[in-house]
Amino acid sequence: MAGEAQSDCLFCKIVAGEIPATVLRRTERTLAFRDIAPKAPTHVLVIPHLHYPNAAELAAAEPAVAGELLAEAGRVAEEAGLKDYRLIFNTGAGAGQTVFHAHVHLLGGKPMTENMV
Ligand code: AMP
Repeated sequence: MAGEAQSDCLFCKIVAGEIPATVLRRTERTLAFRDIAPKAPTHVLVIPHLHYPNAAELAAAEPAVAGELLAEAGRVAEEAGLKDYRLIFNTGAGAGQTVFHAHVHLLGGKPMTENMV
């Protein structure tokens, strides 16, 4: 069922504590942990405990939780002392998504002035 933990999902296993991660913040509904292959000095993933395959599906079903992801990303940035940072939601393999459990990438700590948009 939508929102339920999936036995074959890496991030559901991290939420459940079955796979280790460097957790920075945990709330009742979200988890923030360091990306295992950082692309910037600060590279943190913020995910909902609930399993949805991407950010749009999460937002459609659980808009408050989608909002909490963004608020939590802001808190992680603040705790890391970041004033400038980038938030990225990859959606679909063609856009670089490799883990199909909604997550936002928080990237910061280096200049990121090149833009796709
Ligand atoms: P995406 O490519 O947008 O689906 O992002 C998935 C991210 O998860 C990638 O940046 C990976 O480096 C990261 N990742 C994969 N496995 C782990 C893990 N065990 N712990 C932390 N991050 C991971």
